Amino acid sequence: LDFCRRLPKVERHAHLNGSVRQSTLQELYKKTSEGTSTSSAASVAIAKGDTRNLSEMFAVFGVVHHVVRGAELLTRVTREVLEDMSADGVVYAELRTTPREHQDVGLDKRAYIEAVLQGIEEHRRLAKDGVCIARLILSIDRKDPVTVAEDTVNLAIEYSNRGVVGLDLCGDPALGWGRWRQDWEPAFERGRKQAGLKVTLHAAEMAGMDEEMADMLAWGPDSLGHVCFLSPGEELRLFESRTPVELCLSSNVLSKSVESYSAHHFGRFLERGHPLAICTDDVLVFSSPLSREYALAMSTFGLDEAKVTDLARDAFETSFLEKGRDYNEVLARLRAPS
Ligand code: 5GP
Repeated sequence: LDFCRRLPKVERHAHLNGSVRQSTLQELYKKTSEGTSTSSAASVAIAKGDTRNLSEMFAVFGVVHHVVRGAELLTRVTREVLEDMSADGVVYAELRTTPREHQDVGLDKRAYIEAVLQGIEEHRRLAKDGVCIARLILSIDRKDPVTVAEDTVNLAIEYSNRGVVGLDLCGDPALGWGRWRQDWEPAFERGRKQAGLKVTLHAAEMAGMDEEMADMLAWGPDSLGHVCFLSPGEELRLFESRTPVELCLSSNVLSKSVESYSAHHFGRFLERGHPLAICTDDVLVFSSPLSREYALAMSTFGLDEAKVTDLARDAFETSFLEKGRDYNEVLARLRAPS
C-alpha cells in the first residue's frame, strides 16, 4: 500500500459529492440535523457485507446533497477532495459533478460550477505538499428530463475554456435507460461538435443494457465507466473499439455489480491490453482511496511494481486533459522515478 500511495497516479472517475471528506460530512450533518432523526452521515459508507445494492446505494447521495449547500461549502469540499487526493499521490484528477440549483441559498447552476472551479483554484493556490491538477466534467443524471441535459451541455460549452473538459452520463440506470438515441446522444453530440468536449458514459451498469451499449459504441464515446454487465458480444466490440474504460473495483464489488475482486472484468481488460484507468468512483461511499484500489489490483491480479507504474502512466493517456503546461507537468510527475 505504501508503494501505491507514493506512486504518482491519475484519477479519472470521481463524483464530487461521492468523494466528500467523511469528517466534513459528519460535521455538516451535525450542524443541519440537530433534533431530527434522519439517517446518519456514517451510513453513507458502504462496507463489506452491507446488503445495499447499486440502486439502494443511490439513496446515500441524498444525504450528501442535503448538507453540501451553497457556494462556500461547494468550494470547501472540492478543495478538500483534491487535498485528500494529493495526499494519496494523485497528480491529476478529473472530478465530475451534476450542476444543481440550491434554491434555499440562492445558488443557480452557473454559481454551482463557479464554486467548484473556485475550489480547484484554491487547492492549486494553497497546496503545500504538491498540487493535484484538476479538470471538471459536468454530469447529466439519467433521471432528469432532456431539458436539464441541454442546460448542462450549454453550461459545459460556456465553461469549456475555464476548466470544464467533458460531459458524463450518470445516475441510477434503473431509472433512465432506453433514452440514449432520443435524448442523450443529440445532447452529447452538440457538446462535442460545438466545443470539442469529451464524453464519458456510465455504461452497462445493470444486466440487459446491451442495446444501449451497442448504440453508445456505434456513436463513439471518448471513455466509458464501469461496463460491468457486458455480453460477450458487446465486450468484444468494446475491445475492438479501443474505447478507454474507467474501472472501479471496490465500487463494483461493494455495490454487488461484480461478485468478487478476482472475478472483476479488470482482469480480462488487462489481459487484452485494453486502455483503462483504475478509479475510485465515490471515496466517501466505498472508503477506498485510489492507492488502495491500485493495491487491490496488485494483490488480486498478481501485478508487480513495474506493471502498476505502467498502469498509472497509461491511465493518463486516456485522460481528457488538453495538451499544454498542465499536461506537461503531470507527465513529468508521472515519469519521475518514485
Ligand atoms: P454529484 O454529481 O452530486 O457531484 O455526485 C453524486 C452523483 O453521482 C449521484 O447522485 C449519482 O447521480 C452519480 N453517481 C455516483 N456514483 C455513481 C455510480 O456508481 N453510477 C452512476 N450511474 N452514477 C453515480
